[in-house]
Amino acid sequence: MTKALPNQKKKFPLHLKILIGMFLGIGFGLAMWYVDGGKDFTLDWIKPWGSIFIKLLKLIAIPLILASLIKGISDLQDISKFKKIGGRSILIYVGTTIIAITIGLVIVNIMQPGGGVSEETIETLTQTYGNDPGIVNKMVAAESQKSAGPLQFVEDMVPSNLFGAMADNGNMLQVIFFVIFFGVAMLLIPEERVKPIKDFFDALNDVVLKMVDLIMLSAPYAVFALLAAVVVSSEDPEILVALLWYALTVIIGLLLMVGFYLFLIGVFVKKSPFWFLEKLAPAQLLAFTTSSSAATLPVTMERVEEHMGVEKEVASFVLPVGATINMDGTSLYQAVAAVFIAQALGVPLDLMDQLTIVLTALMASIGSAAVPGAGMVMLVIVLQAVGKFEPDQIAIGLALIFAVDRPLDMLRTTINVTGDATVSLIVAKSIGKLGEPHVEDWDDYAENLSHDDLVQEKSDK
Ligand code: ASP
Repeated sequence: MTKALPNQKKKFPLHLKILIGMFLGIGFGLAMWYVDGGKDFTLDWIKPWGSIFIKLLKLIAIPLILASLIKGISDLQDISKFKKIGGRSILIYVGTTIIAITIGLVIVNIMQPGGGVSEETIETLTQTYGNDPGIVNKMVAAESQKSAGPLQFVEDMVPSNLFGAMADNGNMLQVIFFVIFFGVAMLLIPEERVKPIKDFFDALNDVVLKMVDLIMLSAPYAVFALLAAVVVSSEDPEILVALLWYALTVIIGLLLMVGFYLFLIGVFVKKSPFWFLEKLAPAQLLAFTTSSSAATLPVTMERVEEHMGVEKEVASFVLPVGATINMDGTSLYQAVAAVFIAQALGVPLDLMDQLTIVLTALMASIGSAAVPGAGMVMLVIVLQAVGKFEPDQIAIGLALIFAVDRPLDMLRTTINVTGDATVSLIVAKSIGKLGEPHVEDWDDYAENLSHDDLVQEKSDK
């Protein structure tokens, strides 16, 4: 889309602004470690600004899905296209997740991070975190997830009340279910009769995307606040060092996964990996900062649609579904963590056990909520499914990895978001729905021409 303003200045790229905010936030957080009362100051006066930012993003996620998916489906003309989008994305999601888990298992078996953990470290970590409310909560949450029957997941997808579904960001699949149902019904009614609804959602979609632009203006400040808060509440560096080899194993696995995505982008989308990374960077940086794919979703959608050219009908289905059911980073992490715990506690795992990990981590990736720390809840279920850990060993296992969970969560969320974006590009390309990017800035239509500009414009005519 052409710019409405004749005197566009070259803008400083958003991802660089966010990066600067991140570094300053980390620096500020580190400095606050050494200031008396610095931690409380950061948590009381700085962190809330970051939390407001996350709330704003979550606030617009549901209206954005609603508007863009209804518009997307009703533009389709032909319902078989939609079947293709659905089928392909689910298939590729499952495929990439299995590859992620396999990478995790191979790396953890090669690097053996659990082998080097001393009895003493296990003792210290168990004592420090064994009764941590964070761990106890995760065990309880896992128990309630586990008691669900095999078809519970499908049953949960169907809402009995639309407003109930929209009231909770965790019910994204229910909203998607309603919207698809609604959109298909719209396709079955003559176009002129549904035109008012279509126009309404069209306009709503534009407005919500503009809200994303406006919220993103505060992103550099928000990431400063969020990262400063993460740094001041992080664990004792000594404990982090004890888990360095384990953390490194997860990080190498995640990096290999990024390599795999870039390969897919090159081969199937025929685009340069640098192009992809540059366009997606703001969403990746936010995923890293917020540790939540759900909070990042509006930005991921905006980047993929406006900056990469994926058409609405693909992006508006593939990305929200991906944020809910596709978590490659999380499942890779679960594979590494499960085997690491087994190695550290001296529980031998044979091939069958590792296959069980593949299957349960795959299910866990579908079942994990897209919020911070969710991957660890599902890890409990993975460990239980292996069937070789005593309940208290599972608690010790969680205590072992708890200290580095937040930084690893930040990284795996970045991979989760990158995976969703990759799949949306592949699906779009495969059905001819990858068009030209059409970037809109927040101020494209703002009436901010100065008086001089207007005079100049008149005299040009
Ligand atoms: N925080 C992750 C996400 O939102 C889930 C997890 O691995 O804990 O994607």
